[in-house]
Amino acid sequence: MSNIISLNSDGICMSNGLTAVFIDVLALVGSRLAQTEDEKRLIVWLAEKDQSVVGIGTVGFDIREMPWNTERFEENKRFMLKVIEAAETGTDWNRLGYQPNEEMIFPALKKFSELISQMTADDVDKNAAKEWLGAAESDDPVLCGFPKCERHGALLSCFGCHACNN
Ligand SMILES: [Zn+2]
Repeated sequence: MSNIISLNSDGICMSNGLTAVFIDVLALVGSRLAQTEDEKRLIVWLAEKDQSVVGIGTVGFDIREMPWNTERFEENKRFMLKVIEAAETGTDWNRLGYQPNEEMIFPALKKFSELISQMTADDVDKNAAKEWLGAAESDDPVLCGFPKCERHGALLSCFGCHACNN
């Protein structure tokens, strides 16, 4: 089994293990760089793609479903591209407790960056973000100040820390 991250018919297919590493590296660097609520929300949404909780091979998504803010789409997009670029430097990897395989993770990050670059505000699936926010429970990190994991510095999702769970 594997997970597919797509934009319309274009996409990346990753093994379950690679997907977990992919989410780990993005969550770690994204948690460090996220300043605004929009930015934290995008990272928490990614961290929620936690196979240890929701099931192996079930976390594929279309990037149109991410909680983009359509009014600030270009800023959101710049932020995500910056996160991917920073993830590629490996500076946050020392907090992971394992060494990601560069030959596997770099092409995946590059493809993710391409997909996001191609996306426009018109592509945003507004209902998906609305449903996601609407489904948040009162103790959801998105609604209670975006707590971070003390060990990894990663923003917590409703399932806890992706890096601790991985
Ligand atoms: Zn952690």
